[in-house]
Amino acid sequence: MKFAVIGGGLAGLVFGAMAVKDGHEVIIYDKNPAPGGVLALCEAGDYRFEQGPLLMCDLLPGEPMSNLLAEFGIHLDLMRADRNVEMPGYSMHRPAEYEGPYWRRERLKQLFPGDAGGLDKYYRFYDRMMRVRYNLNRRLTPAAVIALAASFIPVARYARMTAQELVEHFFSDKKLQALYTGILADYCADPREVWGLAVPMTNLETGFDDRIPLEKNGKRFLGGFGYVRGGCQKIAQELSDYITENGGVIKLNTVVDRVIIENGKAAGVILADGTREKADIVAGSGSGRDFFLKCVGEEYLDSAYKKILDTYRPMEAVFMVHAGVDFDPAEVLGTSLCYCYGSYDLSKATERLRSGKYHDGEDGFLLFVPSYHAPEFAPPGRHCLTVYTVAPDTLSEGDWESEKEKFADHLLERAEKYLPGLREHITVRKIMTAADYRAMTHMSKSSFGGTVPVWHQKNPPHKTPVRDLWFIGQQSENGGGLWAVSGGAASAYRECIRNKR
Ligand SMILES: Cc1cc2nc3c(=O)[nH]c(=O)nc-3n(C[C@H](O)[C@H](O)[C@H](O)COP(=O)(O)OP(=O)(O)OC[C@H]3O[C@@H](n4cnc5c(N)ncnc54)[C@H](O)[C@@H]3O)c2cc1C
Repeated sequence: MKFAVIGGGLAGLVFGAMAVKDGHEVIIYDKNPAPGGVLALCEAGDYRFEQGPLLMCDLLPGEPMSNLLAEFGIHLDLMRADRNVEMPGYSMHRPAEYEGPYWRRERLKQLFPGDAGGLDKYYRFYDRMMRVRYNLNRRLTPAAVIALAASFIPVARYARMTAQELVEHFFSDKKLQALYTGILADYCADPREVWGLAVPMTNLETGFDDRIPLEKNGKRFLGGFGYVRGGCQKIAQELSDYITENGGVIKLNTVVDRVIIENGKAAGVILADGTREKADIVAGSGSGRDFFLKCVGEEYLDSAYKKILDTYRPMEAVFMVHAGVDFDPAEVLGTSLCYCYGSYDLSKATERLRSGKYHDGEDGFLLFVPSYHAPEFAPPGRHCLTVYTVAPDTLSEGDWESEKEKFADHLLERAEKYLPGLREHITVRKIMTAADYRAMTHMSKSSFGGTVPVWHQKNPPHKTPVRDLWFIGQQSENGGGLWAVSGGAASAYRECIRNKR
C-alpha cells in the first residue's frame, strides 16, 4: 500500500517508520528544511539550541518509547536528568549528598511541619500509584490485568478527585499544594480541571533526583527522566535515516494544502504547488482544527467529530530566549534545569494566559542548559542557556514581533535572580515567539506541547470519519509529550492496518 504522511514531526516519523518496516511505500511531507517538527535544532551564531522537549519521560532503556525505537534498531545515547524547583518563598534543590528516595518528603516536613502527617500519607499514596504505573506499562497479559486491577483498588477512592481536591486532601498549606500542581501550569491547565491522579504521575520523584534507583528487586520498577546526549533532534534524525534507508521518502520544504477525498475515502494529497499525489492511506498531523477544516473539509466530518473539534483545547504557546554565554550556568545553578515559579495562584496564572495577557515572566519560567547534555552545541569554553515560559498564542495587547525584545530583556533580568550578572555574559541571543512556533509547526494557533489535559476532554481521535484518513500527533493525545505522541502514532498505525484487513 502507499501511505502519504502529512508532517514529519515525531508523530509522522513514527507512523512512517512503522509503515516502512512492514514493507509499504511511504512519502512524508514536511514544510520545514529538516525533519522532526519541534525536535529540530535552531542555530544562533556558533551555537545550537533545542526548540522543543527538554525533560523526557518513558525514554530511558527499558521504557516504552525506548522499546518502540528499538523496533527500528534505534538505540539512543541517553543520560538521566532531574530538575530543581524554586518556589516564591522556598527552594527544592537536590541535596549534594544523596539522601534517599524520600528526601523531598523529609525536607518538606521541616518547611511545613503542620503538614507532616499529610506528607506521610501522600507518599504512601504516591508509592501505590507507582505500582499502578508499573502495571500500566507492562505487557497486558491476563495476569498483568489482574495485577493492574489489584494495584488500583487502594487508590480508587482518589480517582474521583480533581488535582486541586487531591492536594487539598493531603496538604493544608497552599504553598505546599502549589509545589505539586505547579507543573500543570506548564500544560496551561487549571488544577481544578485536571484529574487528581495526574498529580503523582506528573511529579515523579525520580525527576527531582537522578540518583533515585529505578530498579526494585532486580526489576525495572520506576520511571525516570532523560536527555538524549547530543540533543533530541537525534530521535528525528535516526527515524528519518531508518525511513529513507528502507525505501521511504521524506519530502522537505513541501506543504500539503489538501487531502484528496474520493467517494468518502482519502485518496492522496494536493501540494501547495498544485501537484496531486495519490495514496491508499493518508495520515495527517499538526493542529486538529487546521487539518480538518482547511486540508480535509468540514463537509466530510460527522457531527460527533465536529463537536470534538469545536470543544477540545490545545495548550498555549511558549516564549523562549536562547543565549550563548561565556560561563557555565549549570555550575552556578547546580543543575541543568530549574523550574522557577513566581506565583502560588496557578488558577489565576492559567486564566491570565488564556485571556491573552502575557505575564512577562512574573508567574514563572524555566532555566535550561542544553550544552550540559550536548556540549557540542556551544563553542569550546562557552555554554547554551534557554530561558523560557508559557505564553499566550495571541497577545490581547500588542503583537509578539513588536514586543519580543522588551519581553526578552525582562525575562533575562528576572533570570538574574538565579544567575547573577547573566546579561553581561551573553554573546548571542535568539528569541522564539508564538509566531515563530506557528510558522514552524504550520499551525494557525501555536500550541507548544499538545492538548490541555482537561479531565474527560476528548481530542480528535486517530480514526476519522473519512475512510483511510488518520489523525496523529500532539493534538490527538491528552497532554501531548514525546511518549504520548510516538505511542499514539504507533497505535494509530496498528489500528489502520487492522482496519484494512
Ligand atoms: C517548547 C517545547 C517543550 C516541550 N517539552 C517537552 C518535554 O519536556 N517532554 C516531552 O515529552 N514533550 C515535550 N514537548 C512536546 C513534544 O515535543 C511534542 O508533543 C511532539 O514533539 C510533537 O510532535 P508532532 O509530530 O505531533 O508535532 P510537530 O513537532 O509540531 O511536527 C509536526 C510537523 O508537521 C508539519 N506540518 C503540519 N502540517 C503540515 C502540512 N499541511 N504540510 C506540511 N507540513 C506540515 C509541521 O511543519 C511540523 O514540522 C515540548 C514541546 C515544545 C514545543
